Amino acid sequence: MKTNQLNLTFSSIAENVSITRLLIASVGAQLDLPLNDIEELKVAISEAVSNAIIHGYKSNPHHIVYLDLDITKDTLRIIVKDEGCGIMNIEQAMQPAYSTDPERMGLGFVFMQSFMDELQVESTLEVGTTVTMIKHLKQTPISSH
Ligand code: ATP
Ligand code: MG
Repeated sequence: MKTNQLNLTFSSIAENVSITRLLIASVGAQLDLPLNDIEELKVAISEAVSNAIIHGYKSNPHHIVYLDLDITKDTLRIIVKDEGCGIMNIEQAMQPAYSTDPERMGLGFVFMQSFMDELQVESTLEVGTTVTMIKHLKQTPISSH
C-alpha cells in the first residue's frame, strides 16, 4: 500500500464515532488486513474518540476532535486529539477497570492497549489529550501492488 495521510476534524458528537469506525475499516480493507484485525482497529479508534467526546469534552457537542491517520509501508498510526479537560493521572487512568465515572467499565484504554501494538497517551490539564496508537503492518509478498 502506498503511503497515505488522512486528517479529519469533527464535532464532538457520538454520531461521529461510527464515522471513524467506517473510516478505519476502509483503511484496514485497503491494507488487506484480516477481518479480525479490522474489528480490533474499529474498537480501538472508537474507544479513543469516545473518550475525547465523553471525558475530554464532557459530552459538550460544541467542540472539535482531531483525527490523523498516517500510513507508511510498515506502520498504521492513529492519533486522536482533543482540547478538553486533560487527564490528571495518566498512569491511574490507564489501569484496568479505573474510571472517573462509576457508570462506566473503565476498559477503554485496556482495549486500545491490547488491540494495538503501541499506545501512547499525552495529556495536560485544561489543555487536552493526545492518544497515539500504532499497528505494525506485516509485509506479505502479495501486498506489493
Ligand atoms: P469505558 O471506556 O469502559 O466506557 P472509561 O472511559 O471510564 O470507561 P477508559 O476509556 O479506560 O475508561 O478511561 C479511563 C479514564 O481516563 C476515564 O474514566 C477518564 O477519567 C480518563 N480519560 C480517558 N480519556 C480521556 C480524555 N480524552 N480526556 C480526559 N479524560 C480522559
Ligand atoms: Mg473510555
